[in-house]
Formats: sequence, C-alpha cells, structure tokens
Amino acid sequence: MNIILLGPPGAGKGTQARRLVDDRNMVQLSTGDMLRAAQSSGTEMGKRVADVMARGELVTDEIVIGLIEEQIETVDAAGFIFDGFPRTLAQADALGELLEKEGETLDAVIEMKVDDEALVARVTGRSTCANCGEVYHDETKPQPADGTCAKCGASEFKRRPDDNEDSFRTRLLAYYRDTSPLIGYYYAKGQHVAVDGMADIEAVSAEIKEVLDRA
Ligand code: AMP
Repeated sequence: MNIILLGPPGAGKGTQARRLVDDRNMVQLSTGDMLRAAQSSGTEMGKRVADVMARGELVTDEIVIGLIEEQIETVDAAGFIFDGFPRTLAQADALGELLEKEGETLDAVIEMKVDDEALVARVTGRSTCANCGEVYHDETKPQPADGTCAKCGASEFKRRPDDNEDSFRTRLLAYYRDTSPLIGYYYAKGQHVAVDGMADIEAVSAEIKEVLDRA
C-alpha cells in the first residue's frame, strides 16, 4: 500500500508518517529529510539547495523526482508513505509514472486539513530530537526538563533553519500556489481523502487508520 500525506507546513505529516512506520512497517519517503541529509553530508546537491530551502522556496522538480525515483527503485517496502512529495503537478505526474513502472498503485492521498492561523504557531515553536526525530513544541510539548528525549533518551535537539516566521510565510505561499492544486488533481482521480489535522495526534492517527483500512 502506497499513500501520500498532503498538507501545508506544520500540518503534522512527519509526525503521522513516523507513526505509520512504527505501526505498519511502511517506509517514510520525506524529500525534506533527504534534502536535509544531503546538506548535512555536504554533497554538491545539498550545497546547491541550502539557500532555497532556508528561504522556504521549492527546490527543482528534477532534484526531488530523482531522489524519489532512486528510493522507489531500490527500497523493498511493505508500502511507501510519501511525505512532502509530490508538491507540484509535475511531481505528481512523475510519481504516477514511477509507481506504474514498478507495478505499484497509489492507494490513498490523505490531506491533513489545518487552520492557517494554527500553522505558524506550530512551526515556529518546533524542535526535534536529533537522534529519533521525535517532535517537541515550546508551548504544547516542551522538551523534557532533564534534557533527554522522552522517546529515545538522546540529549541533542535541533531546530530547522526554515522554521521561522519569514520562511514559513514563503512555504505557505508555495503550498497554496504549487501544491494545493494537487487536492483537485487527486480528487478527480478518486484518491483524495481529507482528515481533520486540528484534532490531537492520537485522533488524527485513528482517522488515518480508518482511511487505510478502507483503502
Ligand atoms: P519539508 O521538510 O517537507 O517541510 O521540506 C523542507 C524544504 O525542502 C521545503 O521548504 C523545500 O525547500 C524543500 N522540499 C522538500 N520537498 C520538496 C518537494 N517535493 N519539492 C520541492 N521542494 C521540496
């Protein structure tokens, strides 16, 4: 089973993707994580995209389609969760072709609906465990007082350079301009389902589970 988690920055796609990985043995394919990994390891491509990402703009279709192609062709998985990909119509077309080539189907496109006002607060207070990726938030889920991650015990946390208000506005604009047309695209293909991304994490997981059980 292959699914897309679709939604604006801060909708909770990464959080829900990680839960599906734990619960269903699926593999999370986050182009954002792949691009950040390329930056940390200092590859040429990582250096090329660093500024674009810090500003909150989209990197080229060619780069992200290449990253996804490599994963789909080489990783053997019970299913893929596409997180933050596709973000443009060209990427959506390319994904359809890649899956078809592998004899795979796209089983659901789950849009996580969240109020715009909630997003900026979610993103600007966000930090993650550098080891396991557990997400914390300064107001709603502060890092444990003993300075260690509640999930894995590691003691290093990080904040994304694009989780600031200026970059967030650019990311939100990119979402509405380039990514939100995918809602109509997948609706027309009969693959779109919306869930309430404003509900708490457990409730969103439960709603996603229902969608997947029906798919
Ligand atoms: P994310 O971690 O999904 O929020 O992505 C962080 C940043 O990586 C985005 O703001 C873009 O600059 C870049 N990025 C990630 N995925 C894509 C994609 N599918 N297409 C274009 N740019 C992307």
